[in-house]
Amino acid sequence: MDKLLNEISSKCSAAYDINCDVEYDCSVPDNLKRVSGCALPSVSENDLLRHFTNLSRKNYALSAAFYPLGSCTMKHNPLINEKIAKINAFTAIHPYQPEKTMQGVLEIMYNLQNDLCKISGMDYFTLQPAAGAHGEFTGLLIIARYFKSIKQKRTKIIVPDSAHGTNPASAAFAGFETVSLKSEPDGSISPEKFKELLSSDVAAVMLTVPNTLGVFEKNICEIAKLSRENGTLLYYDGANLNALMGIARPADMGFDVMHINLHKTFSTPHGGGGPGAGPVGVKSFLEPFLPVPRVEIKNSKYVLNYKKPKTIGRVKSFLGNFPIILRAYCYIKSLGAAGLKNASMQAVLNANYMLAKLKDKINVPAGARCMHEFVLAPKSALQNGVRTLDVAKRLLDHGYYAPTVYFPLIVEEAIMIEPTETESKNTLDEFIEVLSSIILEESAHDPQKVKDAPVKTPVKRLNEVEAARKPILKWQL
Ligand SMILES: *Cc1c(COP(=O)(O)O)cnc(C)c1O
Repeated sequence: MDKLLNEISSKCSAAYDINCDVEYDCSVPDNLKRVSGCALPSVSENDLLRHFTNLSRKNYALSAAFYPLGSCTMKHNPLINEKIAKINAFTAIHPYQPEKTMQGVLEIMYNLQNDLCKISGMDYFTLQPAAGAHGEFTGLLIIARYFKSIKQKRTKIIVPDSAHGTNPASAAFAGFETVSLKSEPDGSISPEKFKELLSSDVAAVMLTVPNTLGVFEKNICEIAKLSRENGTLLYYDGANLNALMGIARPADMGFDVMHINLHKTFSTPHGGGGPGAGPVGVKSFLEPFLPVPRVEIKNSKYVLNYKKPKTIGRVKSFLGNFPIILRAYCYIKSLGAAGLKNASMQAVLNANYMLAKLKDKINVPAGARCMHEFVLAPKSALQNGVRTLDVAKRLLDHGYYAPTVYFPLIVEEAIMIEPTETESKNTLDEFIEVLSSIILEESAHDPQKVKDAPVKTPVKRLNEVEAARKPILKWQL
């Protein structure tokens, strides 16, 4: 059993860190100063290093091995971005600093907004939202405010049943009613079914392209035309933009509003739920509604403009998640236009390579070609009651992070794989080998081994129902 730092503390031990030897400001009045030492643990440098190294080994990370988590784009993020994000000039700025003393920071934000416009074809961007879901919420508030401004009462948002769960949740949060659109077996949208749902109270349709099965929405132009004729706006969930950079632009497909997950497409490690950034882009007719402050240029200086009478207001304090914005900017500048396109091409190539090797053995609901990710439906290949969840757990014993499972909901026993552009052919080959052997061989010959997995991880198979129903949230000593 691992001990806590307090449990290995001993009075005779100590470790030193030069950075911590700071003389504190003595302006604190004597009566407020501590009279006895505080009860911080005291351990030797050796014990301290071992404690934290051992803790870090219990974590799974991209720096440990392959992370094929579909939909989440867990790719290697260049360390140069981390180094730049740590530069003192960025980390030491204060949120209330006057604009004229942070021109460099505002310049980066301004330039990133423009780069995102070029990549997506949109006219304006805000960098405020803190995540993809937050971007969706912001975009939907903009849509609501737009219809209010033109005095149209539109209360509904169409969301395909293949969408990420955040789409209907954001629509509900923004005060809309969601109308679910049944997608085709490959996750695409039938224009006929779409047309049936269009009515004068539909404010927008939210689409993910490529869709959650990793397939490009072939009917997008027709869907855009039908929407336009109905006065309905098109919202683009840009979480999958890493399949399209430099190849196709959402604005050209007819979308009016979109968000981008900087933490997926444009670097930033984002395991464990954050932090992230979900900039929102709009066509020019929606610009007045964007959150304030807007980063703009006035008299050759970068300024924060709060004077936007039609704005939806602020959605995030200060400048948003600036360190994430900075990493994305480094990533875009270091790759350049040709590099971004190449990253997307490689991501699509890697996914198609894996799909080509797996499709003859395991059922693929969306066909033989994909964009940057694909979905397997292994139900018919699995034997002896082995389920997708067991396969995911067994992969952990082989040292892999498990792919996304049971999503999208429209595919039974789904396994969703996104290799990303940063993995080598060797890594992909090894993973294909292990995944196929679990599904095709172990489930047939040694099913119990799969059902009992994982046995090699710090925590073994958890009772997920109990964990959800009776969570122990209190710290118990
Ligand atoms: C990840 C993702 C989201 C949500 O983004 P967060 O940053 O996790 O809030 C929305 N849609 C799709 C398709 C995604 O993959």
